[in-house]
Amino acid sequence: MSGISCISCEGKLQRSEIQHGLKAQVCADCGGVWLDLDEYKEWLLQTAIVVHEGDFSSLVEVSEQSPHALFCSDCDRMLHKYRLSPQLPVRIDRCSPCGKVWLDAPEWQVLQQQGETTELLRVLNDRGQREIREMEARQRREQADLRRFGAVDYRRLQDVRSWLDSHPLRAELLAYLQKPAN
Ligand SMILES: [Zn+2]
Repeated sequence: MSGISCISCEGKLQRSEIQHGLKAQVCADCGGVWLDLDEYKEWLLQTAIVVHEGDFSSLVEVSEQSPHALFCSDCDRMLHKYRLSPQLPVRIDRCSPCGKVWLDAPEWQVLQQQGETTELLRVLNDRGQREIREMEARQRREQADLRRFGAVDYRRLQDVRSWLDSHPLRAELLAYLQKPAN
């Protein structure tokens, strides 16, 4: 169908191929991608990638409201945001009832660069979102430790920790270190 305008910038959407065999509505102005998850799933099946029904049905709305809310062009509902990756501060927007996702211009390319275009359902399901959140929390803790101790000592701590963790006498070594010398 023509005449649908971009839900992000009001530009003109054109149906085009975003990956071999996969078409979506792509905005000629901002480059964003409006993707139908049924078509996406179909494409996965055609490319002989096994989709577990569980992955698809366990999609949940992990909502995260933002001031830049987008609204579905089909049903006018506000889209919910999903993390794409712990490394990148990007969010995929999804209309759950209509089964469509919006990807800003860099987001599909990010999936392509990471070789993860077939992982969209995993990214969107609740376990995928939880894993991403856990990774983000771990990275925040690491950043906080790095600031607290400084780069040199932080690296030394990491070395000591990996040495201790693989040592059969770990507990005794730790107890020794905590005792005053002599
Ligand atoms: Zn919708």
